[in-house]
Amino acid sequence: MSAEIIDGNKIAETMMQALTSDFRAYQDKAGKEANLLILRIGNDEGARIYSEAKVKRAKKLGVRSNVIEIPSATRDEVLEKIQAFSADPNVTGIMIENPVPPPLDFSDLVDHIPFYKDVDGTSSTNQGRIVNRKEFLTPATPSAVVEIMSRYSELKTGIVTIINRSPVVGRPLSQMLLNRDYTISVCHSKTPDIVQYTRRSDAVIAAIGKANFFTDEFLNPDCTFIDVGINYVNGKVVGDGDFARLSKWIKRITPVPGGVGPITATMIFSNLLKAFKYQEKLL
Ligand code: NAP
Repeated sequence: MSAEIIDGNKIAETMMQALTSDFRAYQDKAGKEANLLILRIGNDEGARIYSEAKVKRAKKLGVRSNVIEIPSATRDEVLEKIQAFSADPNVTGIMIENPVPPPLDFSDLVDHIPFYKDVDGTSSTNQGRIVNRKEFLTPATPSAVVEIMSRYSELKTGIVTIINRSPVVGRPLSQMLLNRDYTISVCHSKTPDIVQYTRRSDAVIAAIGKANFFTDEFLNPDCTFIDVGINYVNGKVVGDGDFARLSKWIKRITPVPGGVGPITATMIFSNLLKAFKYQEKLL
């Protein structure tokens, strides 16, 4: 048997097309443009690459974006900027590129962005809204996983194991899946015998950051494996699953690269659209 390969690039392209026409329609209705503001603090190379990719994507979608580069700043100076952008009606979404240089603390800064402009969905308010079943702007990676699962009718409910309990992946994702009636197990590095959870699952979502860790003995042949992990092996990007083996054994799998990643990158703009509609009273 050979697994169905879930094409994340194709899903992301479809989402981009829908977003382009939605942005056009809602911007026309509001008579103004949506505007994404990205704060980049410090000189992290990864943060530079990610912010440039967002600017490119914004251009493709026909929305404004600005990167504010701040080589160094105190907490008060950053908070002052966040306050000014929060009050500016021409700024729809604010995101802080992670990582920020110490002693600045990403989660502390993000909590000063109003929930309706927090397009990264990482503030305590937006995370808390998930727990209270009032999802609004949700974090990108869990949203990408939910998007994938919603595209397969037999995966719309079921038994799911997430191997990750971080605030960016496993914690919000477990709550988002609970909100959609899945039955969830959350495993982590202290979980004894992970196989007993993964083997009975309809879907397994892995995000442990360990190359080729998951092999066929972890999964049943009807399983869908969603690989969030990003690892570098001999200059190549690979996931947490042993793709060569799993793709011969299970039902469905996301590749790395080209699976969860491209969908994740699109999610910030789904949030920007929601934020725009909310602020322009078009929801
Ligand atoms: P993280 O904070 O380091 O979390 C890793 C999680 O995996 C933790 O919960 C950890 O358990 C668990 N873990 C580690 N080794 C394990 C093992 N041997 N068995 C079981 N659980 C284990 O990392 P993160 O920020 O959540 O990211 C996780 C991975 O996803 C990374 O590869 C990252 O690059 C990738 N990622 C991808 C995207 C995307 O869009 N594709 C987005 C974000 C992250 P403990 O809690 O016990 O330490």
